Amino acid sequence: MDKDQPWLLEVAVPLGVDGLYTYAMPPAWGSGQGAPTDLVGCRVRVPFGKRKQYVGLVMEIHQNQPAYPIKEALERLDSRPIWGRHGQDLWEWMLRYYLCSPGALMGLALPALLRVGSESVLVAMDLVEEEGLDVWQDLHPLSKQLWERLRQGPGMNLEAVQRWMVPHNPTPWIQELMEAGLIGTLESFSKIYRPKSEAWVAKGPRWLAEGAAIMTELERSPRQLEFVMAMHAVAASSDQATLSAVLAKLKLNKTPTAVLQSLVEKGLLVRTTRWVPRVRLKAGLQQPLALNPVQVDASLKARQALALGQNVLLHGVTGSGKTHVYLDLLREVLDRGEQVLFLLPEIALTHQLVQRVAEYVGVEVGVYHSRYSDHERVELWNLVRDGGVSLVLAPRSGVFLPFERLGMIIVDEEHDPSYKQQDRSPAYQARDVALWLGSVWKIPVVLGSATPSAESWQAAQSGRLAKVDLTMRFADQKMPEWVWVDMVREKQSGRVQGEFSSTLLEAMRDEISAGRQVLLFKNRRGYAPSLHCEDCAWTARCNQCDLALVYHKSEHRLRCHGCGQVFASPPGCSSCGSTRLVYKGYGTQKIEESLGLLLPEVRVARLDQDAVRSKNLYSRTLDAFQRGDIQVLVGTQMISKGLDFPGVNLVGVLDADQGLFRSQFRAQERSYQLLAQLAGRSGRHQGQGRILLQTRMPHHPLFGWLERDAYATFMDQELLYRSQFGYPPYVRLLRIGLSHPHQAMVEEAAAELAGVWRPVLGSRLLGPAPPLTALLRNEHRLEFWIKSEKNSEIRQRLAEWIPAELKRLLSMRKYLHLKVFVDVDPE
Ligand code: ADP
Ligand code: ZN
Ligand code: ZN
Repeated sequence: MDKDQPWLLEVAVPLGVDGLYTYAMPPAWGSGQGAPTDLVGCRVRVPFGKRKQYVGLVMEIHQNQPAYPIKEALERLDSRPIWGRHGQDLWEWMLRYYLCSPGALMGLALPALLRVGSESVLVAMDLVEEEGLDVWQDLHPLSKQLWERLRQGPGMNLEAVQRWMVPHNPTPWIQELMEAGLIGTLESFSKIYRPKSEAWVAKGPRWLAEGAAIMTELERSPRQLEFVMAMHAVAASSDQATLSAVLAKLKLNKTPTAVLQSLVEKGLLVRTTRWVPRVRLKAGLQQPLALNPVQVDASLKARQALALGQNVLLHGVTGSGKTHVYLDLLREVLDRGEQVLFLLPEIALTHQLVQRVAEYVGVEVGVYHSRYSDHERVELWNLVRDGGVSLVLAPRSGVFLPFERLGMIIVDEEHDPSYKQQDRSPAYQARDVALWLGSVWKIPVVLGSATPSAESWQAAQSGRLAKVDLTMRFADQKMPEWVWVDMVREKQSGRVQGEFSSTLLEAMRDEISAGRQVLLFKNRRGYAPSLHCEDCAWTARCNQCDLALVYHKSEHRLRCHGCGQVFASPPGCSSCGSTRLVYKGYGTQKIEESLGLLLPEVRVARLDQDAVRSKNLYSRTLDAFQRGDIQVLVGTQMISKGLDFPGVNLVGVLDADQGLFRSQFRAQERSYQLLAQLAGRSGRHQGQGRILLQTRMPHHPLFGWLERDAYATFMDQELLYRSQFGYPPYVRLLRIGLSHPHQAMVEEAAAELAGVWRPVLGSRLLGPAPPLTALLRNEHRLEFWIKSEKNSEIRQRLAEWIPAELKRLLSMRKYLHLKVFVDVDPE
């Protein structure tokens, strides 16, 4: 360290661009001695370009003076690091492993209000003569209009732009203009997190000392006396009360400032402000946990493995009570005063589990919920850091929470696809991050599932995880029975009505007349997945994506499930003008409608992404189902997770073949997991559960394993196939997606990369090839897949070489509009 050299900060700013930005630290921030290392992990406000400012995160501090002039940071926003004890290790590892930019990581890891930018105001930048013109030529007409509009005023926020552009989705055009450097943002700092506070009044020192004697003193000041009496009444046996309660008692709607002031001056009252948490922490009564013998045994085995420093894979059939085993394990950790992170697939889908956990632990439970407001998320963040909450239930982003005393991590339903971040960098897998965190903190990690992922299964086989089994359902409930309905046969014998076989309808009628409930699964939302012309080959397709439009009957519109655009349903064929248009296939809305005709007396509800757009509909629907107000619940994979309803003994699957033949290497694994989870929703409490599947291939081998509940046999087979054909978990995959508004440009870029990569990687490089959806949001896409041996040196070298190559490509002017997405360990 050199005393005379100024300190420099390497700052991550929330931009997609690569790298860190260097700023000078204002001398006032640090005394001369030693590096102010506590700045690392703190947020700072920094200038950026000519007109922008950002809140960034200090990643590093050093004294290596750069050769170019640098700006000074403007403001330090935190007095201590915001990322918790191992935050720095975690961030550094994520950057290296997931090959992402610090800005992108910041975008996913920190709650929005800790990053600002959410209230960004868009402003038009001037066209730079020499470069601007050909950029301008390439712009979409809508982008040009938006730029002209922005140029007329002081700027617009996103909402205003959205309103102005109706019916178009503004994002692609904003993005295009941003990338062309034609618009920028004026960051507004008004929305930085502010805690919610409450005013309190407490008895002052003289009141406490003199007691009721003070009343006599106040006889000549009736308003003060009145206030003191009201406060006395409200506070009851305590010495304090909220100001609002006192005012309510006095029937005042304004604070009598002068009165209060005099009382404070006399030493009779003290005014305080207290911070009020917005996140609802459910303080549970600690209920005794009564494990059954099978659970006791599993818990014991898990403990033994954990004591040896091994992580555990709890393989427990559906309804075996894995939650009770987790609770038994985590209680000890809480009793030691340590924190527990409990990861769940999607928190909105598991509110039953959250309630159950809260009942059993004696501590307050924090819930990190994607539906909570930005303010609430910041509060939980701070509570975790300050130790104000010991048990946190969270979806995948919980791995970033700033723990200080973490003692255990639980990953429930560890096979669930939602643990993997999709389509956004860093494309992290929260289960893997949890295992990594466990090793850094030196704490146990418990993974649990009825159908473990191929990765965890293989890790257990090779001894990296200790597998503990729960093979029995709780309370001796039997495993569900599997029934296959051969739709080809049913059709031949005239036993099909719409989407339903008579077998399924009869089974539903039986259940309902016995006072029970039914879950019906179809993995497609909307009414019909496509609209066809009967006179020519025309199909309604999105104008920005290579996708058929889905008909949504409730709004009588066509929707693109790729970009979200909504279109009016056309009166006739766009190609030949014929009015003979037909809807093909069916989704959950259609099933709901058919049920209305086939079983008119039955109360039906639907649970899918469309149905839960409105905020509380999800829990309202589930509550109604719980009360029995709903008899049949139709849904997408939303109904496959976690639900635990005593009234359900029948689950119907309308198209069991869907998903079996996808090209993705994980298709079989996913199908098994989904169907097993669905079956697991039935017969959990009383009677025999049953899953009835409509299929055209009743003899598919996967179905045989499901029927025999032979997950181990299935997985052995699956792993054999993976090792023979070179798929994870035996090799590592890397997917690199390229996209560009022009087909020719994305092809050119891909060819250029292939030219450099092929000679080095040889057969490890696959592609470029278009993904399933070759055009998405007006961007043409191509992708490469790179296979590499596990733990190999080549993997290490790739981790440096690939980002460098991509960076080189992206810095070329002709690739200004090129986008790159790196997906490490794609699923
Ligand atoms: P899983 O996650 O393994 O499918 P759950 O943890 O949801 O199973 O448990 C299934 C049902 O059995 C739940 O309703 C749960 O409350 C109940 N249950 C499981 N174990 C016990 C136990 N030891 N005592 C009381 N209820 C239990
Ligand atoms: Zn036509
Ligand atoms: Zn689209």
